[in-house]
Amino acid sequence: MKGLIFNIKRYAIHDGPGIRVTIFMKGCPLDCWWCHNPEGKSSGRVTVGRIDRIGEREFRSEEQVGMEYSPEELVEKAERDRVFMEHSGGGVTFSGGEPLMQPEFLTETLALMQQSGFHTTVDTSGYARKETLKQVMQYTDLFLYDLKHTDPDMHRKYTGVSNDLVISNLDMLLAEGKDVWIRIPVIPGVSADAAHMDNLRVFLESRNNGHIKEINLLPYHKTGSSKYRRFGLDDRMASVSQVSNGHLDDYIERLKPLGIHLKKGG
Ligand code: SF4
Repeated sequence: MKGLIFNIKRYAIHDGPGIRVTIFMKGCPLDCWWCHNPEGKSSGRVTVGRIDRIGEREFRSEEQVGMEYSPEELVEKAERDRVFMEHSGGGVTFSGGEPLMQPEFLTETLALMQQSGFHTTVDTSGYARKETLKQVMQYTDLFLYDLKHTDPDMHRKYTGVSNDLVISNLDMLLAEGKDVWIRIPVIPGVSADAAHMDNLRVFLESRNNGHIKEINLLPYHKTGSSKYRRFGLDDRMASVSQVSNGHLDDYIERLKPLGIHLKKGG
């Protein structure tokens, strides 16, 4: 069996779970306005137009996005960084896109990674069939779980889907005793406001059963914009500016009563 991957990177996350080999898997059922990996959204291999500018000049070319790997090939890649991962308490992260879009391949690869002694993390939007999540969670040590908005209308408007499934899947993971880091995109005009953070605190209070190990506030930043330019895609966030540090500090203060480790970025 082969899976479609659009990037593999080795990250050292500051104050995070060690050095991690992150595998970016193709395909995502969401369409977030602020997506930093637009080239990973479609589930097939795609050819994207590429525009590079040097001074006044523009160079156009084409780029293939998506490479096939078997689970064994990915384990082999992870093996090359084993020493870094072991010394830093790191492991392997599956991200995307939405890794749960390739359930059989993901399950097989996670199982093989665990068998080989790697700590496994799945970074997910939570928008997947319950059966898929149940299958995958057997081989997952940690979930990085996006909570894009608690309001159903806002969620639908800015991601294209309802948050019902996302919330019920989160509840299932917590009930099953899986460790979760909640990741909150902080997006100006969408989720970067004090009232939303207060709602989030209430939302998480009732779910705080000891398995929410950390909350990451992920401020919107412009690093993804260059991809939209490069690939000639429509950037719906073009006029949006970055979140100030002062606002982030305020949001952190509002979430502090939860007693969960909080972090900016991650
Ligand atoms: S869930 Fe992640 S990969 Fe999918 S569209 Fe949203 S930001 Fe992009």
